[in-house]
Amino acid sequence: MSRGQLIILSGPSGVGKSSIVKKVMEQHPKLRFSVSATTREIRPGEVDGVSYYFVTRERFMEMVQRNELLEYAEYVGNCYGTPAKPIDEALDLGYDILLDIEVQGAMQVKEKRPDAVSVFIMAPSFEELERRLTGRGDTAPEKIKKRLETARKEYTVAPRYDYLVVSETGKVEEAADEILSIIKAAHCRLHNRIHLLKEEN
Ligand code: 5GP
Repeated sequence: MSRGQLIILSGPSGVGKSSIVKKVMEQHPKLRFSVSATTREIRPGEVDGVSYYFVTRERFMEMVQRNELLEYAEYVGNCYGTPAKPIDEALDLGYDILLDIEVQGAMQVKEKRPDAVSVFIMAPSFEELERRLTGRGDTAPEKIKKRLETARKEYTVAPRYDYLVVSETGKVEEAADEILSIIKAAHCRLHNRIHLLKEEN
């Protein structure tokens, strides 16, 4: 059995990442979502241990000190990090793992795990991103401005990703399909299949 594939997914707030992730997960039975630790407040509808592990800043710092996190970063005032152990356990069992993380953390994972495949999801345009953020109706204009500024910074890191997927309006399925194709292609990479050649010789 071959080891699973680590997939890093990033994209700005409002790009539609969670809908895309949901679609990808539905279509790929051997894909697991990495549950991050965060110090931010739990939102309505979120479940501790499923959406995130909601922890105090003290507990988060303890995880950092004990080297329990594969990566971590601060994002708009809160800490987010990926617990390393569950990832390696799942990869060893042959599961693919999806990390939905922001750009600073993504670059740390790329450094530590060169075999990871990274995908940046972008909106068709900044105007469209602004429209989507405004359309949610639950975010103050000042916060929208801040998120757009953050998005511009995130876009400057996008050229360091392996793949770019455009989240066209109303086309969640197409973006999910592209990501599924990327995962499939990653499995066909030589270093993931070299054992097959060795078995033949
Ligand atoms: P939210 O608070 O809206 O759930 O997430 C805010 C941002 O944090 C998103 O861009 C999300 O991808 C990112 N994020 C979630 N978990 C992690 C993590 O473990 N590490 C890093 N670096 N970013 C994360």
